[in-house]
Amino acid sequence: MSAMDELREGPGGARVVALVTGGGRGIGRAIAGALAARGAALALVDREPSGPQGPPLQDALELTHDVRDFRAAASAVARIEETLGPLAIAVLNAGISRDAASWRMTEEEWREVIDVNLTGAFAWAQASARAMREHGGGSIVFVSSINGLRGKFGLANYSASKAGLIGLTRTLARELGPRGIRVNAVAPGYIRTALTAKVEARFIDQAIAETALGRLGEPEDVAEAVAFLVSPRARHITGVVLRVDGGQTA
Ligand code: NDP
Repeated sequence: MSAMDELREGPGGARVVALVTGGGRGIGRAIAGALAARGAALALVDREPSGPQGPPLQDALELTHDVRDFRAAASAVARIEETLGPLAIAVLNAGISRDAASWRMTEEEWREVIDVNLTGAFAWAQASARAMREHGGGSIVFVSSINGLRGKFGLANYSASKAGLIGLTRTLARELGPRGIRVNAVAPGYIRTALTAKVEARFIDQAIAETALGRLGEPEDVAEAVAFLVSPRARHITGVVLRVDGGQTA
């Protein structure tokens, strides 16, 4: 089977079903595109219905939910399975930032980031894993960040949420491995999206200067890493955090 068909069950076979949260734009949209290109049937979850972003995704099921809603996660997974078939891949990508130095950070800024990035990812991973346990396998990927591996000024809430995802990755890998479910994370460095568009140019230049490759990452760079992790080529890989940062933290 060619790499471009690897998310089909055999040549010309049924499409593997994949869920991507925050799949409407940015990194999530690129991940959805990479999985669709390899044959997957896609379900995308966003807070707002997405407009046209990049090339159309054929037959993608678009669901509008806030990832913080546990009940919505359970009912959305049931709907995905009714509409597309058994869920095999879940990419928990939706995330936000609300930067402030810790002594200025409000309770709301703290709670919102932890709720969306960490609790929201858990809610959808849990609902996905429950379904995957029923059919004896699957693959889950969390989108963490290099700032979950290191400290960064102004990012107490964000770093804590992304470090939390690394703890979740390792624990779920151990809990779900015996049921044939692999759980991994990617830790991107600075990637050119709406999230980083609001960062001052001098900080972006600083981030580029930190990399070994001398460039800012693109959403497709992260998407390729996720596509590998969910593919059969990564069948013996679970519990890892793959940095996609151009050597920013090498
Ligand atoms: P964007 O802001 O471009 O996209 C974020 C996506 O998440 C949007 O589709 C948004 O949907 C969705 N989303 C946000 N909050 C919720 C919510 N409560 N419920 C449902 N969907 C939600 O960000 P990026 O593409 O840059 O980031 C994607 C992920 O990658 C995030 O987890 C981010 O932390 C992580 N990351 C990004 C890096 C970067 O440099 N860009 C570096 C490292 C990690 P809507 O528009 O409907 O709100």
